[in-house]
Amino acid sequence: MYDNNLLRIMNDANDDTVYLADINTHELLYLSPAACKAVGLTSASGYQGKPCYKVLQGLDAPCPFCTNHLLTETEFYIWEHDNEALGRRYLLRDRLVHYQGRLVRMEIAADITDRGGGIKRQFADEAIINCIHQLGNFDDPDLAINHCLAQIGIFYKADCVHIYEMNREEKTFVSTYGWNSQEICVPNTQKYSFPSAGSCVESNNEAGFLCISADDRKAGKHSLEYRILQAQGAKKMIAVPLIDRLGAVIGLLGVTGPQDNTNAPKLVRTLSRFVIDRLEKRALLYRLDMLTYHDSMTGLYNRKRYIERIRELKEASLSCLGVVCICIDKLKNINSTYGQSYGDRMLIRTANILNGICPGDAYRISGDMFAGFFPDIGREDFQCLVEQLKASVNVKDTLHISIGTKWSPGEIDVTEQIIDAENLMGMYKQSYYVSTRADKDAYCSKLKNKLIEEIKNGKFTVLLQPKIHLKTGKVTGAEALVRKSGTSGEIISPAMFIPIYEKEGIVQLIDYYVLETVCRTMRDRISSKKSFPLTSVNFSRITIMDEGFVENICNILKRYGISPNMIEVEMTERMTETDLQVLAALVKQLRGIGFTVSLDDFGTEYSNLATLASIDFDTIKIDKSMVDHIVTNENARVIVEHAIQMGKALDQTELVAEGIETYEQLHTLKQLNCDVGQGYYFSKPLTISEFCQRYLHTDD
Ligand code: C2E
Ligand code: MG
Ligand code: MG
Repeated sequence: MYDNNLLRIMNDANDDTVYLADINTHELLYLSPAACKAVGLTSASGYQGKPCYKVLQGLDAPCPFCTNHLLTETEFYIWEHDNEALGRRYLLRDRLVHYQGRLVRMEIAADITDRGGGIKRQFADEAIINCIHQLGNFDDPDLAINHCLAQIGIFYKADCVHIYEMNREEKTFVSTYGWNSQEICVPNTQKYSFPSAGSCVESNNEAGFLCISADDRKAGKHSLEYRILQAQGAKKMIAVPLIDRLGAVIGLLGVTGPQDNTNAPKLVRTLSRFVIDRLEKRALLYRLDMLTYHDSMTGLYNRKRYIERIRELKEASLSCLGVVCICIDKLKNINSTYGQSYGDRMLIRTANILNGICPGDAYRISGDMFAGFFPDIGREDFQCLVEQLKASVNVKDTLHISIGTKWSPGEIDVTEQIIDAENLMGMYKQSYYVSTRADKDAYCSKLKNKLIEEIKNGKFTVLLQPKIHLKTGKVTGAEALVRKSGTSGEIISPAMFIPIYEKEGIVQLIDYYVLETVCRTMRDRISSKKSFPLTSVNFSRITIMDEGFVENICNILKRYGISPNMIEVEMTERMTETDLQVLAALVKQLRGIGFTVSLDDFGTEYSNLATLASIDFDTIKIDKSMVDHIVTNENARVIVEHAIQMGKALDQTELVAEGIETYEQLHTLKQLNCDVGQGYYFSKPLTISEFCQRYLHTDD
């Protein structure tokens, strides 16, 4: 591109002698038409492969006055020389330029045998070459275009130079780049409708250039140029149409108020070609950017950009940050009830609303989830925008959206803030799912609202306890265990609150919250290419017997891109009180999807060996009460032994002993051929980060 442009420029320097030569071999690489003419050649074949000293000076060895050793890439070396072979005197300007991947000598020669004239044109050429040379340094098309505008403005001593780009859909021209006599300026936003007759852009005259003045009677009063001239209150304007390589007009370059060189269109014409190149490059970059970083359906940024943006926010020094996470509830139902295209419309609508409140910082991060960032925005302004968002999204019955928000001032932990907003969103989503059930009244208790508030306020945390392979001592998995912090900060055990929530029928909120937290942790680990073991999540039988249980947990996993084989569904022995056939079908369904299913608390009062025989669990967890007595009580030892043998007899059932506290218990379980153990002997339940640090440190 650069070489081609360089050649175009040199071709434009029609009446100048311009040549390019290799600085080492002196081989002539290019000779302008005027140069060919001066040395009596009619075509390029006359000089190709020959050295410059032979063709230009008629010498058989490099010229004794060769200036190669004096040349730089930054400035012209200017000198005068009498060419004896041609009998002419030349003003020479030499410098090094990049051509076809190498550094070559460029010489521009002006015949000054007769002196006088031509000096102004030389300035134009110099400005062009200077500009082209520097353009090579700008990868950013915007900078390159601004640079061209500045060169043009200075050369014509203009008031301002603008580029007006055409918007075919809107049928308008709008200024997209601007320079005024001081500096690059923000382009004005005035739109000009498509021109009628008499326009330089429309008629695209042969000169490719138009200079009009305000008092010019011939100037088409309705032409685009004239309207621009008037709007800017200028007396004169040079205008050049911007025409792409397919011959279509894409814009106009206007130089208003030129005071000098108004009869020298070459510079503006030549540089306008560069402007077109850069506009095309910018359009290409834009399309590439759209493909890489945008969601094609909604036009919002995609997950890839979202992850980059999080990194940027972490590095930025922010005074405060607002985060919004939103999720379209029951999108699948919307699709199946109203059709896919309606679902798509809802997605686009949601995206537009979000983008409306945080333009340029809104993301579609998965199928039905969106996020938006509000850096350095005050709490009240943020709240105001959130209210606006809530008011706009939930106006239609068919579309329900769960919104989680978080605003923090001062030292900001971006990840934590996103997690908080996501948690809150998950909570609202869950409560929406519960509240839209047929028997919703039963679920609308005060306790439920209180529970939602408590989850929202971070009252519940998820701990992980490792499961250890007894033979190798390696971690084979983890169990997620929930904790609640009381009003004075004390830790409340699940045994204290799970039964109450079960009774109220709201324990699902806790179970799904724990699953969601596990999935999110896994997703974060996976996206940073770190491992995470199979993790068991406890589900109350109330949750499990809920109609939408399988769908709900699958949706949660899907939302975080987690495969079911990463999650073990732990159900308590009490489940066996329910219809065994229903339970067997459910276990089969879960295993069919890919979940691992384990039977918890085996050996407690609800134990029923028939359950083990009739349902295919992947794992059976021997309750702590059995392990407690395994060393001292023969009965306990026999039951555990039988359970282990039975498990071994049932295909692939793994036995996990819970609550191992002593070396003796461990030793006995090993003797009984137990596979896996869990207990304080190895570790108490740990916070997620402690667990990762202690057990997953090798790939951290
Ligand atoms: P579980 O599922 O049988 O969990 C094992 C319990 O034994 C955990 O108590 C764990 O902390 C405890 N444990 C493990 N090793 C030892 C040990 O060596 N010594 C002693 N003394 N205890 C040990 P935790 O966390 O208090 O949980 C109690 C029960 O609450 C769980 O029993 C489970 O049934 C229920 N639970 C916990 N998290 C959830 C949840 O998210 N949803 C539901 N529905 N239930 C949960
Ligand atoms: Mg358990
Ligand atoms: Mg248990």
